[in-house]
Amino acid sequence: MAFVPGEIVERFRKQFQSAETPLVYRAPGRVNLIGEHTDYNLGFVFPIALDMACYVAIAPASHGQLRVYSHDFDKESSLPVADIATVKPTRQWSDYIFGVAQELTKEGFSIPPGDMYVVSEVPVGSGLSSSAALEISAAVALLGGRAFPKIELAKLGQRAESQFVGMPCGIMDQYAAVFGHAGAALKIDCRSLGHEYVELPSNVRIIAANSLVKHELGTSAYRERVAECRQAVAALREIDPKIESLRDVALDFFERVQDSVPLVPRRRARHVISDTQRVVDLATAARARDLPEMGRLFVASHRSMQYDYEISCAEIDFLVDAAIQIPGVYGSRMTGGGFGGCTVNLVAPEAVDTFRQQLRAAYHERYQKTPAFYDCKPAEGAGLL
Ligand code: ADP
Ligand code: MG
Repeated sequence: MAFVPGEIVERFRKQFQSAETPLVYRAPGRVNLIGEHTDYNLGFVFPIALDMACYVAIAPASHGQLRVYSHDFDKESSLPVADIATVKPTRQWSDYIFGVAQELTKEGFSIPPGDMYVVSEVPVGSGLSSSAALEISAAVALLGGRAFPKIELAKLGQRAESQFVGMPCGIMDQYAAVFGHAGAALKIDCRSLGHEYVELPSNVRIIAANSLVKHELGTSAYRERVAECRQAVAALREIDPKIESLRDVALDFFERVQDSVPLVPRRRARHVISDTQRVVDLATAARARDLPEMGRLFVASHRSMQYDYEISCAEIDFLVDAAIQIPGVYGSRMTGGGFGGCTVNLVAPEAVDTFRQQLRAAYHERYQKTPAFYDCKPAEGAGLL
């Protein structure tokens, strides 16, 4: 479902009792196909930007505030523009916008008083990155056409989330929201911050299945994983001081020296290093239209998250295990930060209906919940609607 600009304009006017005609900006969510928790280790990731997006309608106002309203949360929040540079996070949804505004002021942009109406199609907290869609749509809305390099936009969104909101995320989500491209996946090098577009085989559908669970463990475990990766780097530097991140560690080197890394950081490192390699391999398989190999890589990546990185959960493992039993499913894996959210599935087009029916029935029988399905079609990155 894509929003009609006119509808948002009407909602904006009603909410803010304004006669202004706002400009409407959008930024997409994303589904990551492979390479999980590799971004903050400066490895590769392989997302596609989705046609589900966050929309921000913005217009100037004379009340001296930056006033924001979320349709999805039905909440309004405001901040005097004079306080943007010094405001502290309040642990609410508006932190994502005020954090972006603060970062923009640090870059020398003035933020005039205004009203922002936010409405999103990206399911919140499901691993499809509603947060980056919000940050980047807010950032382009606040920029209002003022020139700013795309890569800086992605980095700014990431700083807002990691430093202001306090989630120590990598660059993938914001990068995908900025650089997404219709018809292709993005193979992103999180060290050089460059990317290639990789066209996906046309005879496969990418379906995300939402477990509808979000375990609260998420944020603290994320921090723990970031720290454990640092411990692994510290141990590996004893062997080779040139190593600065897990990106610098080749899989065969790691296999030779892994015994000198303590057990838990070793398993975390094994996931990151092998999943970075799987990004390279998935891109190769996609170009060769090798769907069985793509599916094999999906499942290998899931097992690595399940057993080595330990970021899956029972519901997600169930969805993966059930999906790969269904004829026409090439592969399945969890996508996103972990502990719930969505799986992403590679499904033959003619098998999509059976896939949905069987997975829905199996999940409902086991967990009494009906998973939501999203057809993931690559879409363009952020911009003016
Ligand atoms: P994900 O990015 O996987 O959806 P996160 O936990 O990273 O999950 O981000 C979700 C948070 O982003 C929400 O709790 C909320 O604070 C903010 N957010 C995302 N979309 C919206 C929205 N439409 N309205 C208000 N806040 C939103
Ligand atoms: Mg997020």
